[in-house]
Amino acid sequence: SNSVTHAEVLVLGGGPGGYTSAFRAADLGKQVVLVERHPVLGGVCLNVGCIPSKALLHVAHVIHEAEAMAEHGVSFGKPQVDLDRVRSWKQSVTETLNSGLAKLAKQRKVTVIHGTGKFSGPNSLTVEGENGSQTVTFDNAIIAAGSQPSKIPGFPHDDPRVWDSTDALNLNFVPEKLLIVGGGIIGLEMATVYHALGSKISVVELMDQIIPGCDKDLVTPLQRKIKKQYDNLWLKTSVKAMEATEAGIKVTMEGKDAPESEIFDAVLVAVGRRPNGKLIDADKAGVNVDERGFIPVDKQGRTNIGHIFAIGDIVGNPMLAHKATHEGKIAAEVIAGHKAGFDALTIPSVAYTDPEVAWMGLSETQAKEQGVEFEKATFPWAASGRSLALGRNEGLTKILTDKTTGRILGAGFTGPGAGELVAEAVLALEMGADATDISLSIHPHPTLSETFAFAAEMIEGTITDLY
Ligand code: FAD
Repeated sequence: SNSVTHAEVLVLGGGPGGYTSAFRAADLGKQVVLVERHPVLGGVCLNVGCIPSKALLHVAHVIHEAEAMAEHGVSFGKPQVDLDRVRSWKQSVTETLNSGLAKLAKQRKVTVIHGTGKFSGPNSLTVEGENGSQTVTFDNAIIAAGSQPSKIPGFPHDDPRVWDSTDALNLNFVPEKLLIVGGGIIGLEMATVYHALGSKISVVELMDQIIPGCDKDLVTPLQRKIKKQYDNLWLKTSVKAMEATEAGIKVTMEGKDAPESEIFDAVLVAVGRRPNGKLIDADKAGVNVDERGFIPVDKQGRTNIGHIFAIGDIVGNPMLAHKATHEGKIAAEVIAGHKAGFDALTIPSVAYTDPEVAWMGLSETQAKEQGVEFEKATFPWAASGRSLALGRNEGLTKILTDKTTGRILGAGFTGPGAGELVAEAVLALEMGADATDISLSIHPHPTLSETFAFAAEMIEGTITDLY
């Protein structure tokens, strides 16, 4: 059977970008059809990304905190981990949100079609689902088909001991020796989880620091902790080959400190993600896709075809859920005739590791590269009462301001809760705050948020000596 449905707005992909734009378009009075190949909404972020990883990181956090308290007089003994129950708790968190999204779609009368969609023309899409194929015609479309983990040609990706992030989140088993290929955010978050569960971790990273793209001083506390807790951190090292053997996954490496080869019980390949642009027959709609699979768009989210928009991971970096949702709202508003456009000054980044690392705006590295004249202050959390009361002293808060205007250019936080703290810095940047605006805003004591005001005072020169 080939039924035909018409949509004023068709959204392809039910991840954070897709469902947000579908809901926004519906709220603005549009009749919306949302096509998603999986049986649930939420995309990578909710099902195999942001949310399950944070549930498992909470488990890791509790284990680490309990271990750390032993030094301060409270011992809990060795944790007993019931992997099945941890997995089903993580699953229940995701399922609660899945059903919440289904409800929100229903409330707005968004028609959700489950099946794989491919364009068949500039105003039509074919959906292959369990009940055969159907056609959706549309006035406007929003492509939100996301991305998937990159694979390395020649590596035994089919072996159950060679993981991508989805496999790692499945918690199938806790390997004794786990290699993380790629010292970026996703790899290090999963390293944090498996370390807490008892794996011996090695990390191999091509660049000369972990989380390339973040200022070195901000990652240093995490890098130090990793060096202390993990078996190995091999920087400036590349993986040359990987072979599945009976004894384990044999990994051949090339780098200054790395062994030529070593055997691991499991390997997580976390070397980036590739966009799904080549999988949707975009050419049949006339939509340009670049050679990597990204779909170029303008500030309103429009592709080269005027009535077709694209948002989220599929349009480019950074591949982050809050970027996708922001872009999703804009595309829906533009379609509804609003004068909207993507005009954010920054998209914050967070590694939910232990310690967390978060940054936004201009990094110090970028400021130097661009020849921007800036003032800088770094407030060490060793001087924060709250941080010490948490048993932590390794964190820092950094602010960069413009030398001429005094306004904030960028900020970074390292330490517990850094991901929550960076939001205030984003607001400061968007509002054009200078150091005085920040330091005159009364921050609650004793909180880690005070470190932002203290760093601002250091810029003003009102704090010169920390004690
Ligand atoms: P996606 O979430 O990829 O959704 C695309 C949807 O489209 C999918 O549901 C897919 O099934 C569907 N689809 C694709 N092709 C078709 C088709 N042809 N027909 C029908 N449906 C189709 N980001 C953060 O901001 N914070 C985090 O903490 C964070 N943690 C992460 C942890 C991990 C392990 C991973 C892998 C990612 C993480 N991310 C995080 C990134 C985040 O998940 C993505 O940026 C976000 O999901 C992108 O949203 P999207 O809507 O563009 O695409």
